[in-house]
Amino acid sequence: MLCKGPAVASPFLNSPKFLSKKIPLISNPAFYNSLRPVIEWNSVRSSTSRRMASRIVTARASAEKLKDPDQLIDSVKTFIFDCDGVIWKGDKLIDGVPETLDMLRSKGKRLVFVTNNSTKSRKQYGKKFETLGLDVSEEEIFASSFAAAAYLKSIDFPKDKKVYVVGEDGILKELELAGIQYLGGPVDGEKKIELKPGYMMEHDENVGAVVVGFDQYFNYYKVQYATLCIRENPGCLFIATNRDAVTHLTDAQEWAGGGSMVGAIGGSTQREPLVVGKPSTFMMDYLANKFSISKSQICMVGDRLDTDILFGQNGGCKTLLVLSGVTSLSMLQNPDNLIQPDFYTNKISDFLSIKAATV
Ligand SMILES: [Mg+2]
Repeated sequence: MLCKGPAVASPFLNSPKFLSKKIPLISNPAFYNSLRPVIEWNSVRSSTSRRMASRIVTARASAEKLKDPDQLIDSVKTFIFDCDGVIWKGDKLIDGVPETLDMLRSKGKRLVFVTNNSTKSRKQYGKKFETLGLDVSEEEIFASSFAAAAYLKSIDFPKDKKVYVVGEDGILKELELAGIQYLGGPVDGEKKIELKPGYMMEHDENVGAVVVGFDQYFNYYKVQYATLCIRENPGCLFIATNRDAVTHLTDAQEWAGGGSMVGAIGGSTQREPLVVGKPSTFMMDYLANKFSISKSQICMVGDRLDTDILFGQNGGCKTLLVLSGVTSLSMLQNPDNLIQPDFYTNKISDFLSIKAATV
């Protein structure tokens, strides 16, 4: 049974063509049930309802300080790590990360790295890990750029349709690898509109999806092009790689994140996007399916409550918050914060140091 929420209300998904296909992710009711909290979350518009939705998703006991890492390590088979604020900060590796990853691998744990940053492809992230001296394969990396392409493949996006991209190179590279036609991206950052009598912008009627991610070349041309596609092309999907409010372009301040680009296009189209990055469970479902792993045997490790920890909780995983990124202990313990992970600790190398301290 397909969810009728606005985030997936597309003739593509509901057409007999798609419904008749045996696509594991889409034909699996569990997949839709797992997406439902996020779809409902995305569908709620008023701030009051948003707060209520947050309470429903996140009501749980206060986080416990991690005291026995071995117990946590032994209780799961897979660790999913967020990258920025957990593995690295900007271009600097966080202390003790290589040794911690080596220890987990030596215990036979599967390691997966998930990031909402869509500006790079899996291959480009692989290079970053390599530059930082970490031995991580491309198959272990899941960026939201990859998630957008994987989602379109999972719904058997028609070969004769194109994707309009509001975003950077990572999305283009992943679409290319998936064999999906696209237009837009950084090249449209140079384009301008002409405000003269009778001027109208033409758009490609074969665009069947607009994918929006963080875009430092964002401009009015892109907003208008995306708006025309979504509003005028029947069944055109509106896909967001993430809705992050802020991002860390430099370590000097917080910068407007991918949510600002998604919000602009949501404002002009009055449509809610389908989010494929965290905290949507699409990537979690994809990973569980691909590696045949049970979600209860996964621990999600991240530095953000509203993306990483919610992502883990929405997926039914154990969750560990590290304080090496954007969330401080006072933010975690603020009475207004309703998102409580199972455990928290300073940084992932505490897996080693707590153990050493107790030997
Ligand atoms: Mg992070």
